[in-house]
This record gives sequence, C-alpha cells and structure tokens, in this order.
Amino acid sequence: MRIRYLPETLINQIAAGEVVERPAAAVKELIENAIDAGASAIDIDVIEGGKKRIVISDNGHGMSREEIAAALDRHATSKLPHDTLETIEHLGFRGEALASIAAVSKTSIQTHHKESGESWEIYCEAGKKSTPKPCAHPNGTRIEVRDLFFSTPARLKFQKTERSEFIAVKDCVTRLAMAYPQIAFKLTNNGESKLSLPAVLDQQSRLSSILGRDFGENAMELKSKRDEAKLWGFAALPTYHRGSSQYQYLFVNGRAVRDKLLHGCVRSAYADVLHRDRHPVLVLFLDLPSTDVDVNVHPAKAEVRFRDPQSIRSMIISSLKNAIHEGGFQTASTVRHSTLRAFKPENDHHVPTPALPFARGNTAAVPRTYAQPSFLSERVTNSYESQSAAIAPTARVEEALPETQSYPLGAARAQLHENYIVAQTESGMVIVDQHAAHERLIYERFKNQMQKNGVVKQGLLTPEIIDLDETQVDVLMQHAPALSKMGLELEPFGKDAVAIQTVPSLLGDRIDFKRLIYNLVDEIRDFEHTNLMENHLNEVLSTMACHGSVRSGRRMNAEEMNALLRQMEKTPLSGQCNHGRPTYVELSLKDIEKLFGRR
Ligand code: ADP
Ligand code: MG
Repeated sequence: MRIRYLPETLINQIAAGEVVERPAAAVKELIENAIDAGASAIDIDVIEGGKKRIVISDNGHGMSREEIAAALDRHATSKLPHDTLETIEHLGFRGEALASIAAVSKTSIQTHHKESGESWEIYCEAGKKSTPKPCAHPNGTRIEVRDLFFSTPARLKFQKTERSEFIAVKDCVTRLAMAYPQIAFKLTNNGESKLSLPAVLDQQSRLSSILGRDFGENAMELKSKRDEAKLWGFAALPTYHRGSSQYQYLFVNGRAVRDKLLHGCVRSAYADVLHRDRHPVLVLFLDLPSTDVDVNVHPAKAEVRFRDPQSIRSMIISSLKNAIHEGGFQTASTVRHSTLRAFKPENDHHVPTPALPFARGNTAAVPRTYAQPSFLSERVTNSYESQSAAIAPTARVEEALPETQSYPLGAARAQLHENYIVAQTESGMVIVDQHAAHERLIYERFKNQMQKNGVVKQGLLTPEIIDLDETQVDVLMQHAPALSKMGLELEPFGKDAVAIQTVPSLLGDRIDFKRLIYNLVDEIRDFEHTNLMENHLNEVLSTMACHGSVRSGRRMNAEEMNALLRQMEKTPLSGQCNHGRPTYVELSLKDIEKLFGRR
C-alpha cells in the first residue's frame, strides 16, 4: 500500500458526491449561479426530472473566454474578491459546483460576455474539458447538463423515479423563486410547462402565486427588527394549517435553508393555538449582516450557523407570537369557504334523502326546508313562549341591534340547538360555537392569572430522583433557572441523576415525572430550549377551561349572548379554540346571496 495523490477527476467525482446529490441539487447550483450573474429571467428545462437532461438559460452578464475555462475548474470562483469567508455576498462562494457537475456528466456551456460582446462555448465530459471556441450565443448563459452521474455508476443506481426527482426539482425552483420575486422563472419537464412565474415587484404576489390565493388571504404579515437583524414574512392564521411541516420556509440572506431551529420556534409560537400534529404554513425571511451567520457549513449550502442562535430564536418566536395575537380574533377564510361548500346544493346528492323519516310518520324529523313558513314561525314562537322568563323575547334582541351590529361579531339574534349563536353583522352573519368560544375565553383568563401571580409551586415530601446520564444532567441543569420559574425545581443528585424538589401545584401528582424529565431533555437537545413545562401547564389550564366553560346545551339570553360576543372581540386568540378549531364562522351577504343563486 502506498499513499498517492488522487487524480483531479476522481477528486471532483468525490466532491460531486456531496455537492450534487441528485438532479435537483444540480438545478439549485445552476440557478444560484444565474442569480449571482444578475439575471432577471431564468428558464429551467429538464427531461425525465433532470436525470436525462437539465438546461438552464439566463440573461445575466455572462463570462469571458478566460472565465468560461476557469469556471469548470474546482475552487475557481469570481465571488470572493477579498479572499475572506467573513463577508459572503453571493449565493455561491465555494467554486466547486460547476466542476462537480461537469465531473459526473456531459456539460456544455454557451455564454455571451456582456462586457466584451464576445460569445464562447465549451464542452466537458466526465471532467475532461475542451478548449473554448467562439460561438453565436446571443445573450446570457446557457448551461446544458446531460446524463448526470453517467461516469459514477454507483450513484446512478441510487437515482429515484422521474416523478420524485421532478418533485425535488420543482421544490428547489419554488424555494428560490420565493426569495427572488423580481426574477421571472419558467420550468418545463419533458417539454411540458410546469411553472411560469412572471417577475413581480413584491414578495406577497410571488408567494400567492406559489402557495395559492388561500395562503395570501389567510396569512398574517410580520415584520421585526433587532439590532441589525431584520425578520419579515408571512405566517398562516392558526385556523389555516396542514398535516406536515414541509410548508415552512426560512430564507437567510436570500438563501433557502432547512433549519430545525425554525420548526422549534414555530411549534413554540403556535403551541397555544394549534394542536401538536398540525402545522402552519409560513414563509420567513431573515436578513443578517453576513458576519453574523456562517453559510460555510454544508457543501450544498443548505444549512447555516448563527453567531447568536438564542437571539434569532427569540426574535422569530416573539414576532410570530405578536402576529398570532394580532390576528387572534380572526378565523381563516378557508373556514368560510368550507362552510359555504357544506351549504351548496351541489353537495346535496351525497346526503341521503330524508324520505325515510317521512314514511315512518316521524313529523318531528321534517327538515326545516320542507316545512311551510307558517308552520315554522308557529313552532319558533311556541318554543320562545315555553322558555323561562330569563330568556329575552325576540323583540329585545332586535332593539339591541342598531348599536351592536357595527361590532365585528355583530348583534346576537338567536341561539340554535342551544349551542350556536347567530349574530347579524353590518355586512353579513356570524355563527358562533358558544362552547368553543367560551372555553377559549376562560383559558385566556386562567393564563392571565398565572402570568400575574406566577406559578404556584408545591414541594414534594420526598424528592423524586430521576436517573439520567451525565450529559443529560448537564443539559437539564443549564435550563434549571427557566424551569424553576415554571414551578419545577431541580437539583443535581450525584453525577447522573436529578432530584425534583418542587412541581407546579396545578400539575399536582397527575403526571409521570420520569417521562416529563426525559421529554424535557429530548426537547432541549432537539431545539436547544424548551417550553414543555409551559405547555404542560397550559394543557391543564385548557382542561380546566373546558370543564368550566358554558356547556353546549345552555340557553342564553340576548344580553348574555351579546356579552359573550363582546368578550370574544376583546380577547386575544379568541378566533380559535385551543386546538386550532374555529370558534366562529362568518358569511358575508355576498356569500349568502351566492347560496341562493342571486349572484
Ligand atoms: P461559485 O458559484 O461558488 O463561484 P460555481 O462552480 O458554481 O462556483 O461557478 C464558478 C464560476 O463560474 C462562478 O464564480 C462564476 O464566475 C461563473 N459562472 C457560473 N455560472 C455562471 C452564469 N450562469 N453566468 C455567469 N457566470 C457564471
Ligand atoms: Mg455556484
């Protein structure tokens, strides 16, 4: 055995293993180069999801004869003029993407160098490049990559299906397109257009065309600034959520990054308004001085390190929380749309016809819509008359109308099935789920009290000892002061155990201490912080709220109903119950007219 230096092609093939893991990674590098070249329009044309061919054309500044030859060499870049990694101002900086791609494919480049007016082309197969030749390319740069991985059979075998490779390509194009609205993007697969995004001025219209109008309508805008860091973007209302967290995008200095920090922050910010298994859609842009973030972490530049992750985390959480609180009284417009769909006649044929109850002579089951109006009104009056004196007559509700109608949730007009308040607003109607709404109100009140008076602790007669390993003890003890504020006092017990001294009295002995401690350790490790204690306490409060709130089935008079509506308007987060279900739906007059075919 003899140590020897590897040939350049092999070195490039090895680098390619990291940089271009799959066709989508090559697409990402090539688009980033086009963006760095100042392009305002980028066309991405792939065949078989990029496995057979990738062509990226841009209208950027192009390359000179020397540059086109150097571009294919490893560690050749035009993007680090000051020879330092401290100030990275372009998406590229490693100078190895083109070399890596060209090492494992058949790559040809045609470019028009704006500065000199000359056009050049070059060809490279499995790392062996030709000399540049003049050509007639009119504008920008066109890079064609054929048969990716043909020279590395091992990697070729690991290629996925065309479909999944194309999904990855599209995902990468979309991410970059979100960050650069002023650049037009076109994507085709096998000659079929898959995405066509014209250049636009603002991020919001680009995001709407990518994530759909629903997102545009149901997103809260957020903006915050801390020292030199700027955070802005759009986050979904808590009532607009998905089953997966894949629709959470973070861009750091225009770079799409996957960072578990984001998911931790999102979970923490939405903990109170969304079930753990549901995930809001959101797009956040973080702009930092380049000295505060290290992008040189990962060959594919998909990860970053922050100089001060704690402050970035708290900035993200607090601005999300602020937005949620400001939007807290709203419910998503999709809630309204699904309500409308439920009403729509075209859905009727899915519903079993009500013939059967008729046939059995069960008149009580006669659907409202089939009843004579006179019959209906008679029944309504009767039921009002039979109610206790505490129930206000309809007339009183009407009187209350003029002044309260102008409130966002309007004036209560009736209670249906002893759980739904129907209110008239200036431009439509609102149906409130009184139980869900009341639950939220009580929960918020409990939380408020807890914040004011602090968490009441309860000492354990004999401290509970939990065995851990040394690093786990360390991890936990670093967070001891924060946990103590939440009522959980911990002390190290020997080297590899902790002793629980106090617990929040709200939790009492209803929890499994061992599991709590293990979960705390896991959460701190995953997210470098924890809000598990707070969540536990909030869960208890939420259960208490559920027991303490107006059960469905309670009659309320007009005053009570209106008081509930006014209370909801004042209470943060009252648009959804503690699990992200809406507490009310709103239909505008327009919506109602649509239902009756008047529009
Ligand atoms: P990096 O982007 O990290 O510099 P690459 O290997 O991706 O490394 O590209 C090498 C060099 O080739 C770039 O620095 C740039 O000067 C040039 N280049 C690549 N693609 C383009 C393009 N589309 N237009 C103009 N120049 C390009
Ligand atoms: Mg590059």
